Amino acid sequence: MVTSLYSLEVEKLSWPKGDTFLTFLQHYNINNKLYFDLEKEDKELCSEIRAGARYYLTKNENNELVQVLIEVSEEMQLQIYKDDDGYKFTTVPIVFDEVVETVTIPITLSPYQDILNQTSNSELANEFIRAYSGSVNFKYMRKNDKIIIKYRQKVRMGQYHGTPEIISSVVQIRKKKYFIFKNEDDGRYYNDKGKSLTSYFFKVPLTYSRISSRFTKKRWHPVLKRYRAHLGIDYAAPRGRAIYSAANGRIIFRGRKGGYGNVIKIAHKNGYVTLYAHQSRFKSGLKRGSRVRKGQLIGYVGTTGVSTGPHLHFGLYKNGRAIDPSRIIRVTKTKLKGTAKKKFLKYTKSLAQELMEKKDEPTQKVLNLKKIESKSILKSKA
Ligand SMILES: [Zn+2]
Repeated sequence: MVTSLYSLEVEKLSWPKGDTFLTFLQHYNINNKLYFDLEKEDKELCSEIRAGARYYLTKNENNELVQVLIEVSEEMQLQIYKDDDGYKFTTVPIVFDEVVETVTIPITLSPYQDILNQTSNSELANEFIRAYSGSVNFKYMRKNDKIIIKYRQKVRMGQYHGTPEIISSVVQIRKKKYFIFKNEDDGRYYNDKGKSLTSYFFKVPLTYSRISSRFTKKRWHPVLKRYRAHLGIDYAAPRGRAIYSAANGRIIFRGRKGGYGNVIKIAHKNGYVTLYAHQSRFKSGLKRGSRVRKGQLIGYVGTTGVSTGPHLHFGLYKNGRAIDPSRIIRVTKTKLKGTAKKKFLKYTKSLAQELMEKKDEPTQKVLNLKKIESKSILKSKA
């Protein structure tokens, strides 16, 4: 898609598989000093560029790069721009709106297909199926059984942006109702009795000396006068310290990854992925596709990729979106108890009522946001 910005063309593109921040610089004849001079946190962010990520390119009439904005998370993008003394790097927050929708969906085909038909939001359909996985057998659903979902969705320039968040939902099969609610305190789904629908947990992947950098989606840096992000936890530990898989899963990446150095990525149940960066070396005998168990040795702490002291950068992703690992690791119970349970039940009681009030509402037509074309990238420049 091409739109006009002053006299320049802005192209909206999707990041090619196999390309990195450095290959991008090379392609546009930008000195790679721009990358090597970056601070550790920014170098790590450059390694968060994923194949398929959206980016917006502006070139001048001589086909030189004037500006590029590259999405690295739902909230942050990298910006390279040219001024009088050459190319500069900065990070820019993505401007988006959030809408909260409640949809009532009678079953005609299957939950996945009906959610998709009704909302044109495949991410919502995926998240719904994942949230209920193992707790409801959808094959017992019959025509005219119902699903009601209340969810929060980011919207950017007239398009769905990122993964929707289910706030509350109910599946009604004949007379029986199956509720789920997201608990804001730990980001997990629970039923109406306060029982967790996810019965496995992540383990801290090493014995560490201290946490040298915490997770932050977007933090104002008063000296640099811009927002920065750190999409994981840095655990400082001596070189060679053992790193263990945080949960059962399968290795989906094992190799070099820019600022992250030697990286292993492991896919787990329910759309979770963990990332272990800066390793000095990998445990031998493991490769892409290998199954690993929770607590299994996968590699050793090092400093590859960045030049500060030895540490493990540990990332956690849900449906491709970076989330704070400390929220998931901290939780050790499958059932809420005591005051946490009281608070949760109070919070969910009104949500359940609200959902059931919508049960006889006619099928609403949700705005098909994806059909609206984006007009300009000016709004995304904060
Ligand atoms: Zn880090």
